[in-house]
Amino acid sequence: MPNINLDGKTIEFKQGQTIIEAARDHGIEIPHFCWHPKLSVSGNCRICLVEVEKMPKLVIACSTLASEGMIVHTKNEKVVAAQNAVMEFLLINHPLDCPICDEAGECKLQDYAYKYSVGESRFVEEKVHKDKRVALGPRVMFDGERCISCSRCIRFCDEIAKDPELTFVKRGDRVTIVTYPGEEMDNPYSMNTIDICPVGALTSRDFRFKARVWDMSSTNSICIGCSRGCNTEIWVRNNEILRLVPRHNEDVNSYWMCDHGRLNTFKNVNADSRINSPQIRKDGQLIEKSWDEAVNEAVSKLKLFTKEQIAVIGSAYATCEDNYIIAKFAKTVLGTGNLDYIRHIDPSFADDILRTEDLTPNSLGAELAGIQPSKSGLDIQGILNAIKEKKIKALYLVEDDILEAFPEFENAIAGLELLIVHSTNHNRSTALADLIFPAATYVEKNGTFVNVSGVVQRIHPAISVVEQDRALDGMSMSRLDKFGTKWDRWAAGKKINALPTWKILTSVAKAMGSKIKFNMAEEIFAEMANSIDAFKNLDYDVIGELGAKVKSEISNNVKVS
Ligand code: SF4
Ligand code: SF4
Repeated sequence: MPNINLDGKTIEFKQGQTIIEAARDHGIEIPHFCWHPKLSVSGNCRICLVEVEKMPKLVIACSTLASEGMIVHTKNEKVVAAQNAVMEFLLINHPLDCPICDEAGECKLQDYAYKYSVGESRFVEEKVHKDKRVALGPRVMFDGERCISCSRCIRFCDEIAKDPELTFVKRGDRVTIVTYPGEEMDNPYSMNTIDICPVGALTSRDFRFKARVWDMSSTNSICIGCSRGCNTEIWVRNNEILRLVPRHNEDVNSYWMCDHGRLNTFKNVNADSRINSPQIRKDGQLIEKSWDEAVNEAVSKLKLFTKEQIAVIGSAYATCEDNYIIAKFAKTVLGTGNLDYIRHIDPSFADDILRTEDLTPNSLGAELAGIQPSKSGLDIQGILNAIKEKKIKALYLVEDDILEAFPEFENAIAGLELLIVHSTNHNRSTALADLIFPAATYVEKNGTFVNVSGVVQRIHPAISVVEQDRALDGMSMSRLDKFGTKWDRWAAGKKINALPTWKILTSVAKAMGSKIKFNMAEEIFAEMANSIDAFKNLDYDVIGELGAKVKSEISNNVKVS
């Protein structure tokens, strides 16, 4: 491979790489505002000026191709003077309103002001004033005074979202961003411009002024809005999720996520509809009960039915670990092969960027984990018909809303003799349930999902539910009931009394005499890796934060329909 000399260090580069790309591949950052690895080069901010020996003037590293034997200086006196001058120029008209700016704490301009500027300005004249708080569209707010005209947002709309909605108007220090006349920025990926805007010029209308970034914690996760499984960071304050942002994973979502996934996949977590306790129906009313009472009720009711009269519906919203236990519970504890999950397909949601027609995050994982009818068992349509014909009398429904998917079966479902539901929130199905177990959401548990391309990815708890408090670790269900109530009083943020589905099911299974026993999701995955070919040789460490492919010949056999 050819080499360049960068600040005295010899580094290899690939033919066609620019200096900034070659440096980046070796972990060396050359400052940049307008350059972005996934956008075309515009070369307008000039902060990446470097000196190349034998060239008459400084050159911009983002558009200068590396060539064999090139000697590049990124930190010498000339370069530092140029960086200082660019920073002074960019800050002339900047309002310097970091104390009230949402971007403060994660702003490139703020960081570079400390790193690459002399810390003072010679400009004493009145700054140019521009429009502030301009709604560019339903989700993005623009502050003209903070904009440094890098054009990243314009290029993103043109090149990634394929929806040219933004442009520059005016010239010199009056230049600003507008949407085309009569248009607004409303493409399904518009909020990525907020992430790539290097300053606080573009902010989220949903998140604005909710929290300073240093008051929040962030946890790596994935989006559950469709089967792409875009990698995300979940940002939390006081046990409440305030925003999702995309996390770079070149094999899954690159740097992006869609606005639907960003805004609509976590609001149920702290919603009023959240189920905060096991509930049993008595005289037509759902009554809050303890975990022990609910488990005992489930066991005594399930024992009233033969295995042919029972069906179990797993969940493409739940983790592989949850589904593995659901399948095991159905087959070995209830002895039924009437087992399937609900496919939520919407072709109109799909595009050729990220969004898929499968609106669930784990169809493939649910099937691989064993959610499939046995040879003589019924699939979802068979189960629904058998419920209508009153052949299936008891339904165990996990983390899905059967009535949202099949509203035409409302009377049939209402006629069931027993409906047990695991759910995070109240919905049309819980309204008919005889017994509800409150399920932890994907932000409250560990586990894995398999995306549309067969990449198995991990999720981690970003907020805690009652049982996750360390002091409660290892407690029995009855002790949990007592401490749950107390903890609610002590908690700084609202904590929900919910459990991961696999944990609820192992308690029910144990009460029915089964030996299914796991202490943590990781143990379940280890058993899956031993017993299911697709997961062979995988564990949580191998999956890591960027995922791993499940065995391809297996995943190709399981089609998401
Ligand atoms: S709004 Fe942000 S991304 Fe767009 S040109 Fe201005 S500084 Fe760049
Ligand atoms: S494309 Fe799918 S997984 Fe990605 S952010 Fe959108 S809804 Fe979520």
